[in-house]
Amino acid sequence: MISQLAMGTVIDGRAIAERLKRSLKEELSRLATRPTLAVLSFGTEPSKLYKHAQAERAKELGIALVDPPGGACASTVTFPEVERIILAWNADASIHGIFVHQPMPPQIDPQRISALIDPAKDVEGIHPHNSARRFFAKARIGSCTALAVMELIESTGVALESKEAVVVGHSEIVGRPVGMLLLDKLATTTVCHVATKNLPDHVKRADVLVVAVGKPHLIKGEWIKPGAVVIDVGINVVGGRVVGDVEFEVARQRAAFISPVPGGVGPVTVMMVMKNTVEAFKLQQG
Ligand code: NAP
Repeated sequence: MISQLAMGTVIDGRAIAERLKRSLKEELSRLATRPTLAVLSFGTEPSKLYKHAQAERAKELGIALVDPPGGACASTVTFPEVERIILAWNADASIHGIFVHQPMPPQIDPQRISALIDPAKDVEGIHPHNSARRFFAKARIGSCTALAVMELIESTGVALESKEAVVVGHSEIVGRPVGMLLLDKLATTTVCHVATKNLPDHVKRADVLVVAVGKPHLIKGEWIKPGAVVIDVGINVVGGRVVGDVEFEVARQRAAFISPVPGGVGPVTVMMVMKNTVEAFKLQQG
């Protein structure tokens, strides 16, 4: 799962995703029928890449993917049109999971979309019932990105109890659920956001740092506490290259473990969507 580079150890998200895939395949082989995942996208470039990765993983696992009638929505789609698609999927017993890609066009409010999805089919874990809680009711569905972050931290073998954990970013779908999961592991958890004063001071005392903002190199390498675990969720395209929110090269000289972008959180998040799809399927089968 882990490969040694320079000083810090680089967490290999692709290897973790492979391990998860093997265990999901085994689980799926015990099921008489297979889940179906409905995917709504708006044809934007970043979501095309994500959708391609989803399609590949689903194919490998034997999970069926369906698009709305007519394929990806146009960027001019209206909210009532999207609402009709999601409500139809909610009511369709042959659809077990629903995933809506970001970014959405400006006329579509992501928070209203999150609240529309049946929580039992919400495989991204973005419905308020799922994102704010560790687990929703009987279903083990949670924010797929937050669960991926926890999987990466766990792969380091570093125990979270009593550690200083700092999350940068407080979005409903990433920062907040990560904060909840870290608290659940008894880490002393601080969640920083756009109004946080002295961000470097918070980062400097983090034994475990999770960054989910979407601003390239917001976190300077020299802020990293020596020996820290650093998980970079950010995805930014700079000069045609995908980079994270952390200044990786300098940070890895101080961190004990650091996740790269790409190849860190991303592949594990895709696999967590598949895992949530299987959990949702099992819940709906009773
Ligand atoms: P988001 O909804 O835009 O949230 C960004 C958060 O960062 C907000 O809470 C924002 O606070 C906060 N923020 C903005 N500027 C800040 C600053 N200077 N200091 C501290 N906090 C600041 O984005 P998201 O959906 O959480 O995603 C965050 C990043 O992760 C994006 O790059 C996204 O592409 C990436 N992502 C990756 C994966 C993956 O699987 N690898 C999955 C999901 C997202 P305010 O709301 O107060 O402005």
